Parts: sequence; C-alpha cells; structure tokens
Amino acid sequence: ALPVVAVVGRPNVGKSTLVNRILGRREAVVEDVPGVTRDRVSYRAEWTGHPFMVTDTGGWEPDAKGMGQSIAAQAELAMRTADVIVVVVDATVGATSTDEAVARVLRRSKAPVILAANKVDSERAEADAAVLWSLGLGEPQTISAAHGRGTAELLDLILTKL
Ligand code: GDP
Ligand code: MG
Repeated sequence: ALPVVAVVGRPNVGKSTLVNRILGRREAVVEDVPGVTRDRVSYRAEWTGHPFMVTDTGGWEPDAKGMGQSIAAQAELAMRTADVIVVVVDATVGATSTDEAVARVLRRSKAPVILAANKVDSERAEADAAVLWSLGLGEPQTISAAHGRGTAELLDLILTKL
C-alpha cells in the first residue's frame, strides 16, 4: 500500500486548496464558506516520481459530541492511519483556540507532523507565521496553497518523512 499523508486542520484554513495543489488538479472541493462537513477523501498523488496517498479531511465542525470531541477524534484518526500528518493553519489569522486544541493532540503523534502556515501569499507576509511556533509543532512551513508559493518545498519535506 502507498504511504498516506493526512491533511488536517480547522475549517477554512485551505486544506482542500493544498490537496488540489498537491494533486495538480482541482478535485478536492474548495469552499469559501466554512462549516460544511464532508467525509475524508483520499487521492493518489505523486511528487518527483514518488507516489503516495493524500487524505483531505472535511474539517472539524461541531457534531453531536461537540467541537472538542470532534477535533480530538479526527486528530487521533490521522495519527493512527497516516504516515505523515500535515496540519494546516491560517497564518493571516494566527493560532486560534481550535488550532491549539488540534496541536495539543498532535504533539503526541508518533507519525511526523508538519506545520503548514498557509495564506502566506507574499514575501511581506512571511513574518506573520512566526507566532505559530507557539503551537509546539516545530518550524512553521510557510506556503500559499492558492498561489503555489512554498508548496514544492513542503512536498520535498513531506517526502523526506515518508
Ligand atoms: P478548508 O476548509 O481548510 O478545506 O479550506 P479551503 O481549501 O476550502 O479554502 C478556504 C478558503 O481559503 C477559500 O476561499 C480559499 O480560496 C482560501 N484559500 C486557500 N488557500 C489560500 C491561500 O494560500 N491564500 C489565500 N489568500 N486564500 C486561500
Ligand atoms: Mg476542505
């Protein structure tokens, strides 16, 4: 079976946009409005000749059990099933309490976790990502999933951990 890269994070941070960038096509559904729950969807991807599966998660919207439970469950699932976890945060917003809850779970992960600071659309915005060190998940990898900025470097980094 191919190695699995799970893309996780709270709604609207750009997970599906990043998955599409990784796929090189628009297959994952990108939503301008947060809060639409969708199932986890896995796609076959490839980077520099190395195939892998990439899993887009529908977001961690509140369910019957509440937001906290839902987040924990999704993060636990990713930790059990993925070889590498990419947690996406919106660098223009910074670390929200939901991001912190996600990070708290993922800090226990045995699988490598990569912190992607998304929506860094320009050089000028790079500095925004520095506050994300506070999540305790290592160096924020600045990317713009929408524009492809930094995504090649992110993919190179993912491959080193597969
Ligand atoms: P998801 O809920 O985490 O899957 O987020 P989506 O991929 O659906 O994106 C949510 C919104 O953020 C959409 O309006 C995207 O166009 C926007 N978005 C995603 N990536 C970027 C980015 O790199 N820069 C900017 N400015 N917007 C982005
Ligand atoms: Mg999505």
